[in-house]
Parts: sequence; C-alpha cells; structure tokens
Amino acid sequence: MPSVSISRRGDDRVRAGHPWIYRSDVTAVDAAAGDLVEVLGARDRVIAHALYSDRSEITLRLLSTGPQALPPSFLRDRLKTAIDYRASLAVDATAYRLVHGEADRLPSLVVDRYGNCLVLQTLSQGMDRRAGEITEILGELLQPAGILARNDPRVRLLEGLEQRVEAVAGSVPERIEVREGAVHYDVDPWRGQKTGLFLDQRENREAALRYARGRLLDAFSYQGGFALALAPKCASVLAVDISADAVSRIRENAARNGLTNVEARAMNVFDELRELERVGARFDTIVLDPPAFAKNKAAVKKAMSGYKEINLRALKLLEPGGFLVTCSCSYNVSEGAFLDVVASAAADTHSEVTLVEKRTQGRDHPILVNVPETYYLKCLILRKIA
Ligand code: SAH
Repeated sequence: MPSVSISRRGDDRVRAGHPWIYRSDVTAVDAAAGDLVEVLGARDRVIAHALYSDRSEITLRLLSTGPQALPPSFLRDRLKTAIDYRASLAVDATAYRLVHGEADRLPSLVVDRYGNCLVLQTLSQGMDRRAGEITEILGELLQPAGILARNDPRVRLLEGLEQRVEAVAGSVPERIEVREGAVHYDVDPWRGQKTGLFLDQRENREAALRYARGRLLDAFSYQGGFALALAPKCASVLAVDISADAVSRIRENAARNGLTNVEARAMNVFDELRELERVGARFDTIVLDPPAFAKNKAAVKKAMSGYKEINLRALKLLEPGGFLVTCSCSYNVSEGAFLDVVASAAADTHSEVTLVEKRTQGRDHPILVNVPETYYLKCLILRKIA
C-alpha cells in the first residue's frame, strides 16, 4: 500500500486531532497523486490513513487514525452517515448541505441538496479521483433527478485540478425551485454563488425572524435570503447588494412570494450606508452579512476596519429598541475579535447594545472542535437599547 512518512511535529498534530498534515511535516513519500495512503509516524508505525496530494500545501487529509485499514465500503458508510444525520435534523427546507467535508469525515467533499438535484464539489486530488464512485453511491442512496459537479472553486487550482462545471448524472436545470421556511426561491446551481445559495445561514435567518420588525435593511443581501424571510414581519424592506444579477433575482423572488414591501438596490454597501445616513434614514432591523473580508491572515487588519465601519454605520442608522444581526464568515477573525469590533462600534456611536443571541453556521455545516478553521461563521443578534 502507498505510504507517506511524517515528522515528529506532524505526528503530534495527528494526536491533537487535526485532520491535515502540511508539506513541511512530510519526510518521505511512496505514493501517487490522490492515493489513499498509510501514514507512518515518527516511529515508522502506521498511525493513520489519509488521502495524498502531490501539489497542495495540505499534503495529507486524514480519513482515520490508528493502524487499522479502512473497510472498502468506507465512502458509502460515511456518505450514508452524513445523509442520515441531515435527515435527523428535520430541516424545514428543501435546500441544505448533506456533506460538509472534514466534519463528515469526508475531507474536501461538499454535497448540497437543492430539491431533487444534488450539487457536488471534490476539492482535493484524492476526492476528485473518487468523484465517479461518490456519484454512483449518491445515486443509489438518494435517487436524485440529476447531480451537478460544481467544480469551479479556485482552491482546486492549488491541487492542480481544473475548474469545471458539468452534470455528472441525470439532468440539472438552470433553475431549481427550492423552499426555505415559507420562502420559495429559484436557484441557479450552475452559476449562483457558492453552490447556488448561502445554505450556512438558513438557521440564522430563522432566528432573525424572531426579532424582525418595522423598517428592515438587509445589507449584502445576495438573492434576498434574509430580506425575503423577514419581509412578512416588516413594514418595509431595503435589500442592497453590489451584484446586479443578485438584485434582479431578489425582485423576481419577492414577486413569486407575493411580497410587495421589498425594494432592492444594486449598490456598494459602504457607499449606501453613508448615503442612508446623509438622507436621515432610520431602521428598526438591520442585517449585515458581508463576504469574508479576511480571506487570509495578512488581510485581517484591513478586514477589521471593514467590519468596524459597517457595524458603526449600522448602529447609527438603527433606532433604539432595534435589532442588528451582524455576521462574519472569515475564519481568520475569531468570535472574540468580532465581538471586540462590535463593542468598539457601540462605544464610538455612544449606543448601548446587548447581545441577544450568539450564533454560528447551521447544524448541517458542523464544526470540528479540534479544528478552529471549521468555525468560520459568526452571527451576533444584538439589540440597541439606547
Ligand atoms: N445574506 C445573503 C448572503 C450574502 S453573501 C444570504 O442570506 O443569502 C455576500 C454578498 O455580498 C454577495 O452577494 C456579494 O455579491 C455581496 N457583496 C460583496 N461586496 C459587496 C459590497 N461592497 N457591497 C454590496 N454587496 C457586496
């Protein structure tokens, strides 16, 4: 069997429960790209099994620890476990994540369900090589109408894999109707952001619905995830996103849901917040759900000033008694650091703010407690009390 030897430091990482071994901790390789390998620890004993990449800085993605070999059915077993877990959540939607990589012991594999279609991403050499087998198993377990391989994320380039989007089973339409709570959407799994929707925010939209009222501002709205979910409880809704395409979809989706109180603007949120302040606009509920400002460690400082600015401006626009739902999906920005930003925005605007709920990504996107990188989404629900 192919094998890869790792250093003492790599060995320690495995023992600490981290599922990745970096190139700098690899001491010898007897394997080809994408192989399932035995991982030899500092004392030359098999300490784990992993998928090997000959290109990525992440050389090994662990599938299991200990000396035992994996059963031939491991992919099927794990896919079934992941799917059964989602079924047990009784999600009130027809779009959600079925497989979330490492957290389902299927490193670098993503499978999302949209109605009766599946969208698949294989983001490492090892998983990509097994895409055919995975497609077959998913077909057997779920009988989808079609499976789309949405393999255009840039991370695939780090693995030496090409960016390609194609139907790998059945047929996948350009518009799939899905339901999330009471809202019906048309999703484009071929070209929409991520795999079509921001599924990780579903439960935060449900939570926000408990507080939404009055005049709502949904900033960084994409296709209106928060705006449309909260609109029935609000007098008026203003959704803002820089993407003209996203904005036209908000309008379509508002109409298809019979929501007549939703206005959508294609604008840069930074400019729009300033303009709203200038014209004296006020809101009772504000959602801030920006893209990851800190995509890497080097970008953290600039990201912090971005988060500070939007939170500060939002608190100024918010009426006392109003709610701010503020999010960060940068895994390089910790929960503590994000809370600090919000606290300093509150201080600078002389507002008194309470923390109503501290939330994260939905339960279909689980966090691994030994892997801080998997705790990426922070969602704070705040109330401005004065
Ligand atoms: N709230 C959405 C997801 C938002 S994702 C939901 O629940 O579905 C972040 C969005 O921010 C993207 O749609 C992107 O187009 C938009 N965006 C990025 N930079 C922006 C900017 N400076 N101004 C406005 N929108 C921006």
